Amino acid sequence: ESAESVISRLSATVSDYPKPGIVFRDLTPVFADGPALRTIVHALIDPFEGQFDAVAGIEARGFLLAAAGAYASGKGVVTVRKKGKLPRKVYSEDYTLEYGTATLELHADDLKPGMRVLILDDVLATGGTLGAACRLFERAGVQVSGFGVVLELTGLRGRAALAGHRIRSLVRE
Ligand code: IMP
Repeated sequence: ESAESVISRLSATVSDYPKPGIVFRDLTPVFADGPALRTIVHALIDPFEGQFDAVAGIEARGFLLAAAGAYASGKGVVTVRKKGKLPRKVYSEDYTLEYGTATLELHADDLKPGMRVLILDDVLATGGTLGAACRLFERAGVQVSGFGVVLELTGLRGRAALAGHRIRSLVRE
């Protein structure tokens, strides 16, 4: 079964969450299904084979994809975290997301300058989150090989916010 097919069969849509008027796409049933998880993880990482030295995930759902993708490819995993969670020297980037503003942080020395990272998350909406993650790695001298997301909400034009980078999205709505 294709990645697109498992995602449409298993994902859920929740109206008015987390706020009235927002339609939230819930991918947890896809993650909870063994064959589906394997299918989406390979669909995200295989096109970038040979192009990355580590896989990064955005807290929290991106961690699931990044850990699985890193393990499957024999690479390490890097955590891009919400403010205040990392104990050592960090880079911080503020960003605007669909439901407010936030700050992401990265340990300054988790990857060495010149390394290449593939960044994964569950959903691409406005691109604010992945844009901030990209700036964190660039400040650390790390090359961003590309982005992988399970679902791209095309109406929010996140792809334009990430111009210049390769983006693999498994489903576009
Ligand atoms: P962006 O920064 O506007 O692109 O929003 C993407 C971030 O918000 C990702 O980290 C997603 O996990 C989260 N997000 C936005 N919309 C949804 C959704 O409909 N379902 C699940 N996560 C979402």
